Amino acid sequence: MRVYSPSATKTHAFCPTARALQQKGVTPKYAAKGAVSRWMGTAMAAGLEQHNRMRKGGVRIAPNHVTPYRAAAVTWNDQVETFLNAGGVVTDETFETRVPPLMQRALEHYAAYDVVPAAWEIRAVEHTFEDGGNARPDLLVVDEDGTAPLDYKMKETLYVKPGETREAARSRTLLEFANDWQLKHYVWCVRRFLGQPCSHYYIVLGELSPKPHFTLQRFEVTETQMQQWIDSAHGWWSDMYETEIDHINLPRMAPTHETKYGPCEFQYACLEAELDPAKYRHKYVTIGRRK
Ligand code: SF4
Repeated sequence: MRVYSPSATKTHAFCPTARALQQKGVTPKYAAKGAVSRWMGTAMAAGLEQHNRMRKGGVRIAPNHVTPYRAAAVTWNDQVETFLNAGGVVTDETFETRVPPLMQRALEHYAAYDVVPAAWEIRAVEHTFEDGGNARPDLLVVDEDGTAPLDYKMKETLYVKPGETREAARSRTLLEFANDWQLKHYVWCVRRFLGQPCSHYYIVLGELSPKPHFTLQRFEVTETQMQQWIDSAHGWWSDMYETEIDHINLPRMAPTHETKYGPCEFQYACLEAELDPAKYRHKYVTIGRRK
Protein backbone atom coordinates (compact mmCIF):
# COMPACT_ATOMS: atom_id res chain seq x y z
CA MET A 1 0.00 0.00 0.00
CA ARG A 2 1.21 3.48 -0.79
CA VAL A 3 1.85 5.48 2.39
CA TYR A 4 1.17 9.23 2.41
CA SER A 5 2.69 11.88 4.65
CA PRO A 6 0.82 13.00 7.78
CA SER A 7 0.16 16.48 6.36
CA ALA A 8 -1.09 15.17 3.00
CA THR A 9 -3.38 12.71 4.79
CA LYS A 10 -4.78 15.38 7.10
CA THR A 11 -5.45 17.74 4.21
CA HIS A 12 -7.12 15.00 2.14
CA ALA A 13 -9.27 14.00 5.14
CA PHE A 14 -10.35 17.64 5.50
CA CYS A 15 -11.09 18.02 1.78
CA PRO A 16 -9.67 16.19 -1.28
CA THR A 17 -10.11 19.35 -3.36
CA ALA A 18 -7.99 21.34 -0.90
CA ARG A 19 -5.21 18.77 -1.28
CA ALA A 20 -5.44 18.90 -5.07
CA LEU A 21 -5.12 22.71 -5.01
CA GLN A 22 -2.20 22.55 -2.58
CA GLN A 23 -0.47 20.00 -4.82
CA LYS A 24 -0.69 22.52 -7.65
CA GLY A 25 0.94 25.12 -5.38
CA VAL A 26 -2.15 27.35 -5.34
CA THR A 27 -2.04 29.70 -2.36
CA PRO A 28 -3.98 32.88 -1.50
CA LYS A 29 -2.40 36.02 -2.96
CA TYR A 30 -3.04 38.03 0.19
CA ALA A 31 -1.15 36.58 3.16
CA ALA A 32 -2.24 37.59 6.65
CA LYS A 33 -1.13 36.45 10.11
CA GLY A 34 -1.87 32.79 9.38
CA ALA A 35 0.70 32.64 6.57
CA VAL A 36 3.24 34.60 8.62
CA SER A 37 2.72 32.11 11.44
CA ARG A 38 3.42 29.18 9.07
CA TRP A 39 6.63 30.83 7.80
CA MET A 40 7.71 31.47 11.40
CA GLY A 41 7.02 27.81 12.33
CA THR A 42 9.08 26.53 9.42
CA ALA A 43 11.92 28.98 10.12
CA MET A 44 11.99 28.11 13.83
CA ALA A 45 12.08 24.41 12.89
CA ALA A 46 15.21 25.11 10.81
CA GLY A 47 16.80 26.98 13.73
CA LEU A 48 15.96 24.25 16.23
CA GLU A 49 17.22 21.63 13.78
CA GLN A 50 20.59 23.40 13.68
CA HIS A 51 20.67 23.63 17.48
CA ASN A 52 19.92 19.92 17.82
CA ARG A 53 22.48 18.93 15.19
CA MET A 54 25.09 20.87 17.17
CA ARG A 55 23.95 19.22 20.42
CA LYS A 56 23.98 15.75 18.87
CA GLY A 57 27.44 16.37 17.41
CA GLY A 58 28.71 17.77 20.70
CA VAL A 59 29.79 21.09 19.15
CA ARG A 60 29.42 24.47 20.83
CA ILE A 61 30.55 26.52 17.84
CA ALA A 62 28.24 26.24 14.85
CA PRO A 63 29.85 24.57 11.81
CA ASN A 64 30.51 27.13 9.05
CA HIS A 65 29.19 29.77 11.47
CA VAL A 66 25.63 28.72 10.73
CA THR A 67 24.11 29.53 14.09
CA PRO A 68 20.57 28.36 14.86
CA TYR A 69 19.29 31.87 14.22
CA ARG A 70 21.18 32.12 10.93
CA ALA A 71 19.57 28.85 9.79
CA ALA A 72 16.16 30.19 10.80
CA ALA A 73 16.73 33.55 9.08
CA VAL A 74 17.77 31.91 5.79
CA THR A 75 14.61 29.75 5.82
CA TRP A 76 12.45 32.73 6.74
CA ASN A 77 13.87 34.91 3.94
CA ASP A 78 13.55 32.08 1.45
CA GLN A 79 9.84 31.61 2.17
CA VAL A 80 9.05 35.33 2.18
CA GLU A 81 10.97 35.96 -1.06
CA THR A 82 9.39 32.98 -2.79
CA PHE A 83 5.94 34.27 -1.87
CA LEU A 84 6.64 37.88 -2.87
CA ASN A 85 8.35 36.83 -6.13
CA ALA A 86 5.24 34.83 -7.03
CA GLY A 87 3.22 38.06 -6.76
CA GLY A 88 1.97 37.59 -3.22
CA VAL A 89 1.09 40.48 -0.92
CA VAL A 90 1.52 40.39 2.87
CA THR A 91 -1.21 42.25 4.70
CA ASP A 92 0.45 41.79 8.11
CA GLU A 93 2.40 45.01 7.72
CA THR A 94 4.86 44.71 10.63
CA PHE A 95 5.86 41.10 10.01
CA GLU A 96 9.35 41.78 8.63
CA THR A 97 10.52 43.89 11.56
CA ARG A 98 8.54 42.03 14.24
CA VAL A 99 9.15 38.31 13.72
CA PRO A 100 12.92 37.86 13.05
CA PRO A 101 14.06 39.50 16.35
CA LEU A 102 11.52 37.38 18.25
CA MET A 103 12.90 34.25 16.59
CA GLN A 104 16.47 35.23 17.42
CA ARG A 105 15.64 35.82 21.09
CA ALA A 106 13.69 32.54 21.31
CA LEU A 107 16.47 30.48 19.72
CA GLU A 108 19.09 32.01 22.02
CA HIS A 109 16.82 31.28 24.98
CA TYR A 110 16.32 27.68 23.81
CA ALA A 111 20.07 27.13 23.44
CA ALA A 112 20.56 28.36 27.02
CA TYR A 113 17.58 26.45 28.51
CA ASP A 114 17.12 23.39 26.31
CA VAL A 115 13.98 21.62 27.57
CA VAL A 116 15.06 18.22 26.20
CA PRO A 117 16.79 16.65 29.25
CA ALA A 118 20.57 16.40 28.94
CA ALA A 119 20.36 12.73 29.98
CA TRP A 120 18.37 11.84 26.88
CA GLU A 121 20.16 10.78 23.73
CA ILE A 122 19.22 12.56 20.53
CA ARG A 123 19.05 9.59 18.20
CA ALA A 124 18.19 11.50 15.02
CA VAL A 125 17.42 15.04 13.86
CA GLU A 126 14.87 15.43 11.03
CA HIS A 127 15.08 11.73 10.20
CA THR A 128 13.06 10.95 7.05
CA PHE A 129 11.08 7.70 6.98
CA GLU A 130 11.05 7.36 3.20
CA ASP A 131 8.85 4.26 3.22
CA GLY A 132 6.61 5.91 5.80
CA GLY A 133 5.32 8.59 3.42
CA ASN A 134 8.48 10.67 3.96
CA ALA A 135 7.32 11.35 7.50
CA ARG A 136 9.94 13.45 9.28
CA PRO A 137 9.73 14.01 13.04
CA ASP A 138 11.78 16.96 14.29
CA LEU A 139 13.65 14.65 16.68
CA LEU A 140 13.93 11.03 17.71
CA VAL A 141 14.97 10.95 21.35
CA VAL A 142 15.91 8.04 23.58
CA ASP A 143 14.57 8.43 27.12
CA GLU A 144 14.25 5.90 29.96
CA ASP A 145 11.48 4.11 28.02
CA GLY A 146 13.23 3.90 24.66
CA THR A 147 12.97 5.74 21.36
CA ALA A 148 10.21 8.34 20.91
CA PRO A 149 9.44 11.06 18.34
CA LEU A 150 9.39 14.71 19.39
CA ASP A 151 7.93 17.66 17.48
CA TYR A 152 8.09 21.40 18.05
CA LYS A 153 4.91 23.49 17.78
CA MET A 154 5.50 27.22 17.74
CA LYS A 155 3.23 30.16 18.59
CA GLU A 156 4.23 33.76 18.18
CA THR A 157 1.94 34.52 21.12
CA LEU A 158 -0.13 32.02 23.04
CA TYR A 159 -3.88 32.71 22.93
CA VAL A 160 -5.07 33.26 26.50
CA LYS A 161 -8.84 33.34 26.94
CA PRO A 162 -10.39 36.07 29.10
CA GLY A 163 -10.08 35.00 32.76
CA GLU A 164 -7.60 32.24 31.92
CA THR A 165 -4.06 32.09 33.33
CA ARG A 166 -1.15 31.69 30.93
CA GLU A 167 -0.34 28.32 32.49
CA ALA A 168 -3.94 27.13 31.93
CA ALA A 169 -3.74 28.35 28.32
CA ARG A 170 -0.56 26.29 27.84
CA SER A 171 -2.26 23.17 29.22
CA ARG A 172 -5.30 23.73 27.00
CA THR A 173 -3.12 24.26 23.92
CA LEU A 174 -1.00 21.19 24.64
CA LEU A 175 -4.13 19.07 25.06
CA GLU A 176 -4.86 19.71 21.37
CA PHE A 177 -1.89 17.44 20.62
CA ALA A 178 -3.22 14.46 22.59
CA ASN A 179 -4.27 11.88 19.98
CA ASP A 180 -2.41 13.86 17.32
CA TRP A 181 -2.57 12.17 13.89
CA GLN A 182 0.90 13.28 12.83
CA LEU A 183 2.64 12.13 16.00
CA LYS A 184 0.89 8.75 15.90
CA HIS A 185 2.19 8.40 12.35
CA TYR A 186 5.71 8.96 13.73
CA VAL A 187 5.14 6.39 16.51
CA TRP A 188 4.03 3.90 13.85
CA CYS A 189 7.20 4.66 11.81
CA VAL A 190 9.44 4.08 14.85
CA ARG A 191 7.77 0.72 15.42
CA ARG A 192 7.62 -0.40 11.82
CA PHE A 193 10.89 0.89 10.37
CA LEU A 194 13.18 0.98 13.42
CA GLY A 195 11.67 -2.06 15.15
CA GLN A 196 11.38 -0.21 18.47
CA PRO A 197 8.43 -0.76 20.88
CA CYS A 198 7.39 2.91 20.93
CA SER A 199 4.23 3.93 22.81
CA HIS A 200 4.74 7.61 23.59
CA TYR A 201 5.70 10.90 21.96
CA TYR A 202 6.65 14.41 22.97
CA ILE A 203 5.52 17.88 22.01
CA VAL A 204 7.53 21.02 22.75
CA LEU A 205 5.23 24.03 22.73
CA GLY A 206 7.26 27.16 22.02
CA GLU A 207 6.15 30.76 22.57
CA LEU A 208 8.05 33.73 21.15
CA SER A 209 6.25 36.60 22.84
CA PRO A 210 5.84 38.36 25.29
CA LYS A 211 8.96 36.41 26.28
CA PRO A 212 10.37 33.08 25.06
CA HIS A 213 8.92 30.02 26.76
CA PHE A 214 9.17 26.33 25.88
CA THR A 215 7.14 23.51 27.46
CA LEU A 216 7.93 19.81 27.03
CA GLN A 217 4.91 17.49 27.29
CA ARG A 218 4.77 13.68 27.08
CA PHE A 219 1.76 11.83 25.56
CA GLU A 220 1.02 8.10 25.80
CA VAL A 221 -0.41 5.98 22.97
CA THR A 222 -2.30 2.82 23.92
CA GLU A 223 -2.27 -0.31 21.77
CA THR A 224 -5.96 0.18 20.96
CA GLN A 225 -5.35 3.78 19.87
CA MET A 226 -2.47 2.63 17.69
CA GLN A 227 -4.59 -0.06 16.07
CA GLN A 228 -7.40 2.45 15.45
CA TRP A 229 -4.87 4.78 13.84
CA ILE A 230 -3.47 2.02 11.60
CA ASP A 231 -6.96 0.95 10.46
CA SER A 232 -7.92 4.56 9.72
CA ALA A 233 -4.63 5.35 8.00
CA HIS A 234 -4.98 2.39 5.64
CA GLY A 235 -8.50 3.54 4.77
CA TRP A 236 -7.39 7.12 4.08
CA TRP A 237 -4.30 6.08 2.08
CA SER A 238 -6.29 3.78 -0.21
CA ASP A 239 -8.83 6.59 -0.68
CA MET A 240 -6.02 9.02 -1.56
CA TYR A 241 -4.55 6.59 -4.04
CA GLU A 242 -7.91 6.03 -5.73
CA THR A 243 -8.47 9.80 -5.90
CA GLU A 244 -5.08 10.24 -7.57
CA ILE A 245 -5.60 7.57 -10.24
CA ASP A 246 -9.17 8.65 -11.01
CA HIS A 247 -8.88 10.52 -14.31
CA ILE A 248 -12.63 10.90 -14.78
CA ASN A 249 -13.94 12.51 -11.61
CA LEU A 250 -12.56 15.62 -9.95
CA PRO A 251 -11.47 15.22 -6.31
CA ARG A 252 -14.44 15.39 -3.94
CA MET A 253 -15.37 18.63 -2.21
CA ALA A 254 -15.92 18.80 1.55
CA PRO A 255 -19.57 19.29 2.61
CA THR A 256 -18.67 22.45 4.54
CA HIS A 257 -16.07 25.04 3.66
CA GLU A 258 -14.84 26.11 7.08
CA THR A 259 -11.77 25.21 9.11
CA LYS A 260 -11.46 25.62 12.87
CA TYR A 261 -9.73 28.94 12.14
CA GLY A 262 -12.51 30.28 9.90
CA PRO A 263 -13.41 30.13 6.20
CA CYS A 264 -11.34 27.78 4.03
CA GLU A 265 -8.73 29.77 2.10
CA PHE A 266 -9.93 28.21 -1.17
CA GLN A 267 -13.56 29.34 -0.87
CA TYR A 268 -13.27 31.85 -3.71
CA ALA A 269 -11.54 29.38 -6.04
CA CYS A 270 -14.05 26.61 -5.35
CA LEU A 271 -17.34 28.38 -4.84
CA GLU A 272 -17.10 31.63 -6.82
CA ALA A 273 -14.68 30.70 -9.61
CA GLU A 274 -15.90 27.09 -9.78
CA LEU A 275 -12.27 25.88 -9.89
CA ASP A 276 -11.54 27.71 -13.14
CA PRO A 277 -7.92 29.01 -12.83
CA ALA A 278 -8.64 31.81 -15.30
CA LYS A 279 -11.38 33.07 -12.98
CA TYR A 280 -9.55 32.73 -9.67
CA ARG A 281 -5.98 33.71 -10.62
CA HIS A 282 -6.36 37.33 -9.48
CA LYS A 283 -6.88 36.07 -5.91
CA TYR A 284 -4.21 33.34 -5.79
CA VAL A 285 -0.55 32.82 -6.68
CA THR A 286 1.22 29.61 -7.57
CA ILE A 287 4.28 28.57 -5.62
CA GLY A 288 6.51 25.64 -6.56
CA ARG A 289 6.33 22.82 -4.05
CA ARG A 290 9.27 22.39 -1.69
CA LYS A 291 11.13 19.11 -1.46
S1 SF4 B 1 -13.64 25.72 -0.20
FE1 SF4 B 1 -14.62 23.80 0.35
S2 SF4 B 1 -14.36 22.46 -1.41
FE2 SF4 B 1 -12.91 24.16 -1.64
S3 SF4 B 1 -11.01 23.42 -0.75
FE3 SF4 B 1 -12.10 24.50 0.84
S4 SF4 B 1 -13.28 22.95 1.91
FE4 SF4 B 1 -12.65 22.09 -0.04
